[in-house]
Amino acid sequence: MNIDKFYEKLLKLEDPWYVDKVELNEKETKVDVFVKHHTPIQAACPECGDFKSIYDHGPERIFQHLSTCQMQTFVHVRLPRVNCDKHGIKQILSDLGGPNSHMTYAFESHVIKMAQECSYSAISRLALLSWDEVSGCVKRAVERGLSRKPKHITERIAVDEKSFAKGHKYETLVCDHDKGTVEFVADGNSQESLEAYYKQFEQHEKKIVSVITMDMWDPFIAATRLHIPGAAQKIVFDRFHVMKHMTEAVDKVRKEENQRFHEEGSDLLKGTKYLWLWNQENIPEWRKQEFERLQNADLDVSRAWAIKENLRHLWGYFSEAWARRFFKQWYFWATHSRLKPVKDAARTIKNHFENIVTYAHHRITNAVVEGLNSKIEKVKRLACGYRSRNNYRMAIYFHCGGLDLWPSPPSGRQIRWAPA
Ligand SMILES: [Zn+2]
Repeated sequence: MNIDKFYEKLLKLEDPWYVDKVELNEKETKVDVFVKHHTPIQAACPECGDFKSIYDHGPERIFQHLSTCQMQTFVHVRLPRVNCDKHGIKQILSDLGGPNSHMTYAFESHVIKMAQECSYSAISRLALLSWDEVSGCVKRAVERGLSRKPKHITERIAVDEKSFAKGHKYETLVCDHDKGTVEFVADGNSQESLEAYYKQFEQHEKKIVSVITMDMWDPFIAATRLHIPGAAQKIVFDRFHVMKHMTEAVDKVRKEENQRFHEEGSDLLKGTKYLWLWNQENIPEWRKQEFERLQNADLDVSRAWAIKENLRHLWGYFSEAWARRFFKQWYFWATHSRLKPVKDAARTIKNHFENIVTYAHHRITNAVVEGLNSKIEKVKRLACGYRSRNNYRMAIYFHCGGLDLWPSPPSGRQIRWAPA
């Protein structure tokens, strides 16, 4: 088999396409393959698919392909343009690579696979591509995926915020509880950030939303109340975020008490920070005795801890009425504890209680976001070098969007022999 035929096979070229010549450039460790077509041919209009005669040829396109052994491989072709009576003069679609790509479909898929595992700069070193070529490939993959995705609002929504790299810039993530995907990424964590997601849909479409889990964050609450019909019964504040307020209160009480003890020359609470942060069942065996001793020592932190632990029962109720009854008693206890951090946290929780008690019906937390966190941490690890927030957003869609990212060559033949 001669080398031209060999490359025709590798590239799966079909008549009337053929390989005109192959050049080996040892100095630059590359192979250039020049593809041409026989004549006379007709070509398919990219808009309507009708076969028309050739008008002329566009300038040479060069597609990078999978390497031939150690040699980078490039395919050169001048694509015909057709004159369609309906659509005017158009360049035909190529079986080799997409309209805005300098890569063949096969090579582009390979870069996408690498991007799922490595950072842009690693791919750029491994595949000898420029950083912009890699980010362009990921951008095209995400745009392709988003355009293929059916456009409807998520029925069970989880909203979360994530900080972007260093500093305190945030992204708002809208996630799908059922698919475990990130559906939307918006700049910032303001009311407008979340509204940007809701605004994509008509009012009647938004009726299908059955639950929205989120942190007790006023801008997200406001956006949801404004856009989602019946939001008052559908918002559920994340259980772990609510408990975090109490755990932080316990920690504040410990710090203050430890300081007092320290001034009095006692180190009773020294090194006990984590004992008070753990839930009862998570206290390690070897510290249980120590913890019991402290609990019997009539400490402020011990009372704060008991109040915090008790609040966890709230999420055990299946009846809203019982949950309300329980909370009323708990709130009385917490606000009469004479522990300021506990009282403050209890008030914050009470102010948001109407959408904490909704848990009794919906029984859902933001756990889907926790599941996505490992993927997002990966995105952040690869992030050194995203260069912009826009690239970071692309990366979140790329890794967490559940999108169909793969390039697909046009279906059917694009050129054929002209009828005699
Ligand atoms: Zn046409």
